[in-house]
Amino acid sequence: MTISQEIIEQTNKFGANNYNPLPIVVSEAEGVWVKDPEGNKFMDMLSAYSAVNQGHRHPKIIQALKDQADRVTLTSRAFHNDQLGPWYEKVSQLTGKDMVLPMNTGAEAVETAFKAARRWAYDVKGVETDKAEVIACNGNFHGRTMGAVSLSSDPEYKRGFGPMLPGIKLIPYGDLEALKAAITPNTAAFLIEPIQGEAGIIIPPEGFMKAARELCRENNVLFIADEIQAGLCRTGKMFACEWEDVEPDMYILGKALGGGVFPISCIVANSDVLSVFNPGSHGSTFGGNPMACAVSLAALDVLVDEKLADRSLELGEYFANALKEIDHPSIKEVRGRGLFIGMELTEEARPYCEALKELGLLCKETHDTVIRFAPPLIISKEELDWAMERIKKVFTK
Ligand code: PLP
Repeated sequence: MTISQEIIEQTNKFGANNYNPLPIVVSEAEGVWVKDPEGNKFMDMLSAYSAVNQGHRHPKIIQALKDQADRVTLTSRAFHNDQLGPWYEKVSQLTGKDMVLPMNTGAEAVETAFKAARRWAYDVKGVETDKAEVIACNGNFHGRTMGAVSLSSDPEYKRGFGPMLPGIKLIPYGDLEALKAAITPNTAAFLIEPIQGEAGIIIPPEGFMKAARELCRENNVLFIADEIQAGLCRTGKMFACEWEDVEPDMYILGKALGGGVFPISCIVANSDVLSVFNPGSHGSTFGGNPMACAVSLAALDVLVDEKLADRSLELGEYFANALKEIDHPSIKEVRGRGLFIGMELTEEARPYCEALKELGLLCKETHDTVIRFAPPLIISKEELDWAMERIKKVFTK
């Protein structure tokens, strides 16, 4: 038995069975490459669902981690720490919003957004107690906590976990008329992924985001963008909302905010919304901890200094065009923005992902028939060519 096989067996024996990973064990990583314990090298085309936009173990981010580990790692929010203020200011400058609330994981940030929207509805908008509604979209993915699965339209995400949270309405993704019809005086917020990642890289119809944003403004409804996966340069812009010049009332950020090194997430909005929180109304022991903030400061610098949005845009176009040229009956569509690309097949994508793994390329299927190509944004053109050679091999007729 190889070390990899032993580890997989151990993992399957002692762990809850809530994932179905490809049979590969990663024990080392650098840039766009990972290695298994046997020394086999693979290219990572998933980037931990876009948490590793800056590449694995970016030296500047690792240095920030090490420096901070030598000073202080956790204070809790019972005391101030010297990294939180500078990090707040950086996130505020990046988003153009004036307040930030830190959490750890994406789902926690979504919960926080949900709570903010409800309290804003009662305290600012004047909705009657316990009547606030949140509108979300079919096919969404906002995480796995009770709030997030209550928002989901996927029965499998909810099965056996009821009762779900009340006060949620779902509309078809990209359907303006449905949004219009769903808004009532009790609507607190409309929550949307500017591109649906887990649903299979689904882009809303042109003009929808802008029109939905306006509709929310007219009806005094918060427009909340879940940019956890699509944000932070992944789609070729700092935020995916920029594709339609939309400025949401609130951003939800996570994943690449910690550069794939340390979990950190947040919601960002103006003080008319975020000042609904007061001491005791929300919190987290690790939220805003100095390790996460120090790492995130470096992770955000890397995104900006290395112009990863421009890089994603340029290389994404190059790569998507090459993928579109593959002539194979099983390929239905190649779509995406920047290096956030979905290849929709007419059949199950998993066997193709397994075949690509055998050739040294790691991708993951999403929603059965879509292969997601989302490499670290530091990838080079030559490395993309290397990937294309393998992809072409798997799609030979
Ligand atoms: N929102 C979106 C759009 C996501 O893609 C994800 C994760 O894939 C989440 C929320 C949940 O984030 P986490 O897995 O960190 O809880």
